[in-house]
Amino acid sequence: MPIIKICSFCGEQITPGTGIMYVKNDGTVLYFCSHKCIRNWEMKRDPRKLAWTKLYVRGGIKSKRK
Ligand SMILES: [Zn+2]
Repeated sequence: MPIIKICSFCGEQITPGTGIMYVKNDGTVLYFCSHKCIRNWEMKRDPRKLAWTKLYVRGGIKSKRK
């Protein structure tokens, strides 16, 4: 069974053999499905605000605090 990785940015499953492994200077390993995700992550974009990610929140991010 191949280990299915989840894209650290968009939340999509990464097909084994594809995707990019990104190791940060502090040793944290991140997996990305595409360069598009790396670029957006480097720009420190919030995936919850991008409609093409699985983490996108419809209607904007709402605070759960009450
Ligand atoms: Zn991705």
